[in-house]
Amino acid sequence: MGFEKRVNVRYSQPANPARTMLSTMIFWHNDKRKLITTLAVLLLVGFAATTLVNYYVSKGVIRDSIIASELPLTSDNLYSEIQKDLVRPVLIASMMASNTFLRDWVTNGEAEPARIVKYLREIKQRNGTFTSFFISERTRIYYQAEGVLKKVREDEPRDAWYFRVRGMDAPYEISFDPDLANKDKLTTFINFRVHDDAGNYLGVAGVGLAVDTIRGLINKYQQRYLCNVYFFDQKTGALLFGSDALVAGTKISSIEGLGGLAERIKQEGAGNYQYDSGGRNHLLNVRLVPELKWYLFVERVEEDALTGIRRTLYLNLAICVVISLIVLFATSLTINRYQGQLEVMATTDKLTGLANRQACDLLIPQALAEARRAKAPLLAMMIDIDHFKYVNDRLGHPAGDSMLTQLAQAMKGALRESDIVCRWGGEEFLVVIKDTDAAPGQALAEKIRGTVENGSFRWQDEPVRVTVSVGVAYYKEGETPEQLIARADKALFQAKDAGRNRVHVAA
Ligand code: GH3
Ligand code: MG
Ligand code: MG
Repeated sequence: MGFEKRVNVRYSQPANPARTMLSTMIFWHNDKRKLITTLAVLLLVGFAATTLVNYYVSKGVIRDSIIASELPLTSDNLYSEIQKDLVRPVLIASMMASNTFLRDWVTNGEAEPARIVKYLREIKQRNGTFTSFFISERTRIYYQAEGVLKKVREDEPRDAWYFRVRGMDAPYEISFDPDLANKDKLTTFINFRVHDDAGNYLGVAGVGLAVDTIRGLINKYQQRYLCNVYFFDQKTGALLFGSDALVAGTKISSIEGLGGLAERIKQEGAGNYQYDSGGRNHLLNVRLVPELKWYLFVERVEEDALTGIRRTLYLNLAICVVISLIVLFATSLTINRYQGQLEVMATTDKLTGLANRQACDLLIPQALAEARRAKAPLLAMMIDIDHFKYVNDRLGHPAGDSMLTQLAQAMKGALRESDIVCRWGGEEFLVVIKDTDAAPGQALAEKIRGTVENGSFRWQDEPVRVTVSVGVAYYKEGETPEQLIARADKALFQAKDAGRNRVHVAA
């Protein structure tokens, strides 16, 4: 068998396997990037879509429930509280106006004012009102719970209210006036006209509630129901009580955003409305309190009601991002691990743990390029076990395997870390040594040969004699890796030819 044939057999392999290997790794790298990007997009889009859909659905549900149940219920509750807190004084005043004792006492000439004072005091104490009063038309005397206050006079501006009620068609009015009996404290008065049985006008009776008391009530409602509460006068559309931000007397029609609804509210008298003010959506429920002729507005700013779910939205999005990052990180780690394992598997010989032929195809051109650049010497050795077939035949295949492993260990022991040792084929090894001149290179080849020959290779505790033949080729300027290896191979063949267990240096 001529060495030309051996060389031909060796190099009829797929063209440039090193490039194939490299491109496989690049393919892997790109593939991983694509996978991670796709996964990131899927996770983030998926999570974000679910979270946002959830948010918008919840938002709709919350808004609907505010409009359909929360505000109307609050309005109902408020209405009954108002009945208790504000309508009751109207009833008290109405009872006073129709009280037989009061009317008889007036008709009978208002004798013993102490009696009416006692009556007024009892009304005040029993009902916890701020004041209670009666003004007689005949005597113009102003009676109140503490006694006779004064006489009202037509030319006195502070008494104008009395003459207003006196000329009024309606049975009563609710007014805001300073209380003359209580240091002019701003008071809500319920002024009821009093008539005798024949319908003759006798005067005005009623009670007063401190405006602060009503403000306190509204604050209590607002805090209890977490909404804004306003009262507007039905006739004038002016604000009576409500949020501190609005001045009493402000007309519905002049309030930002709400103004546009003024006409509708007036016509419909009650219902659910929405309006925009300061970029915030206000949800509003309106009803009429017929006893007071007031509109009750109960209002909630949608954004305030959504604070909770918005916070949940941000939290959910943050959790999504964190989970996505963890998944991506874990995926990337797993891919890296498998990629690493695959790379090791693809480049390592399983039996000996040396670099395999694939790895050599990458490493040798690189070593040659370095040598060329550094103008450093380099040599290649092709090492083949002599009569290995005989070892296999005599001791069995496992023994042959063990010899290969022991030889790999021996070679590694004789060489430096930076040298390339690879299993080239069955029982053939290729060694590439950098930065070594001819004489020490040949000595190294001899050292390896001698180490194997004198090495205590064993199989099942029995010594096995193993020898190797070595073909050495020094790198020549401009040579390709294939040419260098072919020369080493040829030198190996010559070493075999010369009787084996020897080193032959290529020309
Ligand atoms: P020469 O001195 O001319 O090299 O003779 P040889 O017997 O070593 O050469 P030949 O090429 O005839 O035989 C090589 C043998 O190596 C044949 C094959 O079965 C054996 N072999 C190749 N790979 C392995 C392996 O991984 N394990 C074992 N046990 N034997 C192997
Ligand atoms: Mg052999
Ligand atoms: Mg061989």
